[in-house]
Amino acid sequence: MSIHVTIWNEFIHEKKDESVRRIYPNGIHNALKDQLSSESDFVIKTATLDQPEHGLTEEVINHTDVLLWWGHMAHGQVKDEIVNKIADRVRKGMGIILLHSAHASKLMKCLTGCTGSLSWREQNEKQILWNLKPNHPITKGIGEYIVLDKEETYGEPFGIPDPDECIFLSWFSGGNVFRSGWIKNVQNGKLFYFQPGHETFPSYMNPEVIKVIINAIRYLKPLNYIENVDSIWQKEPITS
Ligand code: ZN
Repeated sequence: MSIHVTIWNEFIHEKKDESVRRIYPNGIHNALKDQLSSESDFVIKTATLDQPEHGLTEEVINHTDVLLWWGHMAHGQVKDEIVNKIADRVRKGMGIILLHSAHASKLMKCLTGCTGSLSWREQNEKQILWNLKPNHPITKGIGEYIVLDKEETYGEPFGIPDPDECIFLSWFSGGNVFRSGWIKNVQNGKLFYFQPGHETFPSYMNPEVIKVIINAIRYLKPLNYIENVDSIWQKEPITS
C-alpha cells in the first residue's frame, strides 16, 4: 500500500546563499525527494513557503500520511492557520518528522507545548549519533552509531517534553551531547524529531541518515485516522 509523503521546505537559504546552493542546487526538499524515490511505495510531493497556503492546502494535508518539515529563517512567516490544520491532522493520526532547525518551529511549539530551545554553534564539529534502540523499526539497518564528519553542534539542555522513545543520542567533538532522534506521541499521531541537516553540510546525502528517515516514514504512517478527536457526550452509562 502506498505511503503519501509530503516534504515541506521553507526554501530560502538555497536561493540566497551560494554555499548552500552548491550542496542543494534544487533545494533541500528536492534533494530529499530524490533520495526517498528509491522507495517504490512512497508517493512523494513537495511544498514550499512561497506557494499559496505554503503548498499545504487542505487537499494536500488530508492526503498526507507523513509530513517532513525543514525550516529555519522563516518560522515566523508560517501562517498559524496552516500550523493549526497540520496539528489537527497529526492529532487524528498523521505522522510528522521535524528536521534539524525545525526544533524552533511553530509546529514543534504547538505539538509539544515546549520551546525547543537548545545550545548551538557552527564549528564544523564531528558528530556521532549513538543508536540507543538497536531493535527499533527506525534503526533497522543502522549499526551501533552513525558518524557525520561535520555538522552544526546542537547541545543539551533541549527544551522538549520527555520523549516517549529516545532513539539517538549524539556526541559532538566539542563536548556536547544531544537527543538527536526521538518520538513523541501526539494523541493519535506521532512526531519524530531528527537533528542532522544543517544547510551547509551534505547530511541528506548520507545513506544512513536517509535510511533513518525512510524507516521513520514507515514507522509513523498511521494505520488509520480517528476523525473525531473531540470529547463525546455519553449520556447513558454503559450497562451491558
Ligand atoms: Zn542549522
